[in-house]
Amino acid sequence: MSDYYKTYDLKHVINASGKMTILGVSKVPEVAIQAQQFGDTHFFEIKDLVDKTGAYIAKKLGTEGAVVVNSASAGIAEAVAGIIGQGSKYHAYHPFSPRFTKREIILPKGQNVDYGTPEEVMIELGGGQVVEAGYANMCTPEHIEMMITEQTAAIFYVKSHHAVQKSMLTIPEALEVAHKHDLPLILDAAAEEDLKKYVDLGVDVVLFSGAKAIEGPASGLVFGKEPYIGWTKLQSLGIGRAMKIGKENILGFTTALIHYLDNGPESGDAMKARLHPFVAALNEVPHLNVKEVQDGAGRPIFRAAVTVEATSPNNAKQVTAELKAGDPAIYTREYRANEGIIEFDIRAVDQAEMDLIVTRLKEILA
Ligand SMILES: *Cc1c(COP(=O)(O)O)cnc(C)c1O
Repeated sequence: MSDYYKTYDLKHVINASGKMTILGVSKVPEVAIQAQQFGDTHFFEIKDLVDKTGAYIAKKLGTEGAVVVNSASAGIAEAVAGIIGQGSKYHAYHPFSPRFTKREIILPKGQNVDYGTPEEVMIELGGGQVVEAGYANMCTPEHIEMMITEQTAAIFYVKSHHAVQKSMLTIPEALEVAHKHDLPLILDAAAEEDLKKYVDLGVDVVLFSGAKAIEGPASGLVFGKEPYIGWTKLQSLGIGRAMKIGKENILGFTTALIHYLDNGPESGDAMKARLHPFVAALNEVPHLNVKEVQDGAGRPIFRAAVTVEATSPNNAKQVTAELKAGDPAIYTREYRANEGIIEFDIRAVDQAEMDLIVTRLKEILA
């Protein structure tokens, strides 16, 4: 195979930061690549492809409906547009028509996060009007209930490490408030791992990113109850056209998902077993104190949290800058670099790359 790093003079990247869109998210498994190639070189009735892959996935997940879309972000906009239009084709053509007056989407303030783009931008792209509930540090079921009016179309909940976790109502609590007022709950669980959990909770509309935990090609999944999934599909006649997914990625994602449901993500124990020797090697690097930490959102993901000593010649920000400036460029989780902490996420890092990271750090901190 051609070395496209060479052909196009591209920077080679080691991704120790996690499932990051700016780095290309995931490595796609071989079975999904084969499905993508099949899709690339064959024709389908696209409606048939969308309907049948969706039905196959819905059956596997034990839910009423599913549709593969081009990203979780597109799924947010299309699901919101579908709920505002309530199945009206007219709405799909004119999603912002004043004829549709129920377009308020209630979102806990601490969940109106920027994951690369703000939640509110995707909600409003679908014709929604964001109404924040609660405060920066808390949101209760009563805070949500207070904001419900005749114009409310749905309640929106973001399950993510990006969101405020403390004093936040739970998903079942949000669901209870929504259903008490005959409103659907839309759940953005883009980077989560367990799809069936949300089916079991009875969430109406769930969004997953195709390329994060599931490690599919660029794609997203909207699943849950009817009529919401059917209404989401209708958006291909409207705003969904600008978010079209290719046939190759529909097949690639569906295959990646089935592979993921059958095999699961790397277990926490397996990840820890790979992490232990890496942490030990990092602790040999001068000026670094290293320990294992679990993911802030409680997912079974374990990372090396490296504290750069105050006496170090380079502080944490300088170390991450130097790691990125090398060849290959090493990307870490730098959210806490201002506190002197750098995290390494090894989900997409192999042994040879871990050795290289240790060697680079020894050079930088010598
Ligand atoms: C990544 C992410 C998204 C977007 O997923 P895409 O498939 O890249 O559009 C949405 N919401 C949250 C919370 C995310 O982490």
